[in-house]
Amino acid sequence: MIRIVYILFFLLAGNPLFAQETSPNIIFMIGDGTGLSQITAGMYANGNKTALEGFEVIGLSKTHSANNLVTDSAASGTAMACGVKTFNGVIGINLKNQKAPSILEIASEKGYVSGLIATSSIVHATPASFYAKVTSRKKYEEIARQLSESEVDFFIGGGKKHFVKREDKRNILDEMDSFEFVSRLSEFEKSTSNKLGLFTNMDEPLPIAEGRKPALNDALSAMLNKLDSQPSPFFLMVEGSQIDWGGHANDLNYILTEFRDFDRAIAVALEYIKKNPNTLLVVTADHETGGLGIDSGNIKNFKPRGGFVTRGHTASMVPVFAIGIGAKKYSGIYDNTAIFSKMKEVLD
Ligand code: MG
Ligand code: ZN
Repeated sequence: MIRIVYILFFLLAGNPLFAQETSPNIIFMIGDGTGLSQITAGMYANGNKTALEGFEVIGLSKTHSANNLVTDSAASGTAMACGVKTFNGVIGINLKNQKAPSILEIASEKGYVSGLIATSSIVHATPASFYAKVTSRKKYEEIARQLSESEVDFFIGGGKKHFVKREDKRNILDEMDSFEFVSRLSEFEKSTSNKLGLFTNMDEPLPIAEGRKPALNDALSAMLNKLDSQPSPFFLMVEGSQIDWGGHANDLNYILTEFRDFDRAIAVALEYIKKNPNTLLVVTADHETGGLGIDSGNIKNFKPRGGFVTRGHTASMVPVFAIGIGAKKYSGIYDNTAIFSKMKEVLD
């Protein structure tokens, strides 16, 4: 009798009429400030290998914003999340001053569950591009308020202070009735809540070299387990936020350690897509930071050395890596806004 129940269960679970698994999952990974030199340096420093070698399709993305050849993370985040070029510093609003729906919001409208992971605060420009509409990326408290009203179901990131230590004295977390908030990855894993946030820090999380927890691969594994256990398909954005901060600091070791953290998470995502082929995985950067050039190094241990041309961003095109459902669309050279429209085509 038990055997018959099992067989029935597998027949029903595998039947598309009973499972909404026909719509593909999307995993979108952004290495902030991660140009080709950062990838190259990170690959060499990692024993001449990177998880990015496992991808099928590679393209190049033009990162300029509406008003500057050199974008910031708000304009480039908006381009990739919402498909519109805007001014540097602006999140989720187009040049006609209209709110632009993000791929996360569009997916949610189609019944998707959604997740965000960042190794910065969750209200920082890159993750905010997926749920917020503000004229300045610095309006952290307003961005936090907008997260509370957003379609985001699961998140992992820092920046709790923007929700609980505010100028308006509101406690936004108290207002988010449907959400559960935790402070450890083990609690995140154990929770059965359908709306769940893990704050990894009151402020900005530490660099990984100074002991940031959790590692991005662990955060991603926990998030994928969570999203995978939901009956609906999912959209997930994962950001290696601090590769950019290593570039701003002109600190190659900071870049290498943060890239390694990001690269390990990419390996987890690749592993997931092997088991769940009805998924699109895209990995790219919002822009390059620092104008890093690798001008010397040690061939025996692949230790790279390099220099920087700026403490800001540069206008170099950045690579796009794709695998899975719809990945072929990402071959070629295109504007960063096309990263959004190609994902949207996959959703449609
Ligand atoms: Mg960022
Ligand atoms: Zn930056």
